[in-house]
Amino acid sequence: MAFDERAFFTEKPETRPARYQCPRCRRPADYSIRWVRRVKRDRPPAGGDETDRARFAKLRDYLLRVDDEVVCPACGKKFEIPSQHSLLFTDQLEGLPDADELEREIAAASGQPAPAPEAKPALPPRFTRKSTGWK
Ligand SMILES: [Zn+2]
Repeated sequence: MAFDERAFFTEKPETRPARYQCPRCRRPADYSIRWVRRVKRDRPPAGGDETDRARFAKLRDYLLRVDDEVVCPACGKKFEIPSQHSLLFTDQLEGLPDADELEREIAAASGQPAPAPEAKPALPPRFTRKSTGWK
């Protein structure tokens, strides 16, 4: 990302346990992997423009992996941590809110009205009466 993340996030290093299998000896081992936790600031950067504020509204806290490689304790092979595990959104760790809720939060944070739930036109009574012959 091209923008300055430090204006949007505070950073805190942390260590998380992980288990990886060595590609050479196939033995799994537990590793302590260093990450940086980026926590969204309370407000967008001062002096930011509309784009900054919109961008800020969509940001989520996340963890960025610092370590790229580990060394197998069994055979000494240095190998790369699978790269698809290099970024984790914090809400993936702590239970995702449902998508609709997330949309509303984003809308609220950006000052836009939330999309209204689809309004159902009121039906005349003949349609709402309990039906008996419908399959
Ligand atoms: Zn190994």
